Amino acid sequence: MNHDLIPKPITKFYRVKCQGCGNEQTIFSAASTRVKCLQCNRDLAAPTSSKVLLKSKVLKEFD
Ligand SMILES: [Zn+2]
Repeated sequence: MNHDLIPKPITKFYRVKCQGCGNEQTIFSAASTRVKCLQCNRDLAAPTSSKVLLKSKVLKEFD
């Protein structure tokens, strides 16, 4: 009996809070470009080879 499941891609969304102005924004975990705060233009996340590097406070994660 083999019940191997096809692995789901590990993608999530992060609800983050900008440490500069407090703006809340949603970031995709597999973002391929730098994510900036829509309010103050501060970097919220930077892309890496596997997933984003978050530079802001994560409020919650969701799929
Ligand atoms: Zn901001």
